[in-house]
Amino acid sequence: MPMVIAIDGPAASGKGTLARRLAAHYGLPHLDTGLLYRGVALTLLDAGFALEDEAAAARAAAALIADRLADPRLRERAMGEAASRISSVPAVRAALLTWQQSFAGNSLGAVLDGRDIGTVVCPDARVKLFVTATPEERARRRHRELSARGEETTLAAILADIRARDARDAGRSAAPLKIAEDAHVLDTTDMDADAAFAAAKAVADRARSH
Ligand code: C5P
Repeated sequence: MPMVIAIDGPAASGKGTLARRLAAHYGLPHLDTGLLYRGVALTLLDAGFALEDEAAAARAAAALIADRLADPRLRERAMGEAASRISSVPAVRAALLTWQQSFAGNSLGAVLDGRDIGTVVCPDARVKLFVTATPEERARRRHRELSARGEETTLAAILADIRARDARDAGRSAAPLKIAEDAHVLDTTDMDADAAFAAAKAVADRARSH
């Protein structure tokens, strides 16, 4: 039976690193679904449209091509903000839902990480994890990551972004960030990447043996 692992959580919770490691460990394909939303935002901005143009955002989502997802600009702080804005448009979410579900539906299974994987995209996933950490710890991690990439920002600015993004992602009416009833919550505030991986692997191994 294919094994689908759904990983959700707020910005900079460590879910991406965890998803990549689980995918490598179990030999499964991995989709960072945040990149799809970032890809739509980038397509829109590159074509000269405003982020508020919902019709243009829906067209960009329907026409999104995989090549776009390799653009290094997708990882920039501003693109996370832009993605968070267009992700509340229902037509954008609907177009990306088809993409995500066909990725998850392959015969092997898959690891997907995002905000609504366990609740909307893959409600029947065998393993559901909700990865979180305090906003302060997430801000420190994101600050380290962006500094290592040479992007100059302050910790305070990142913490403000994270709080705003949490509020927006949890408060929107279309597929808000919330914990699926059957998800295992993993608070990584006091864990490093190895400890988080070990805890997640234990959950996945248990689910596999059932
Ligand atoms: O995870 P990442 O920071 O790349 O996501 C960027 C934005 O895309 C999030 O703040 C969220 O608004 C949106 N997103 C979403 N649903 C997903 C993944 C990302 O709404 N499954």
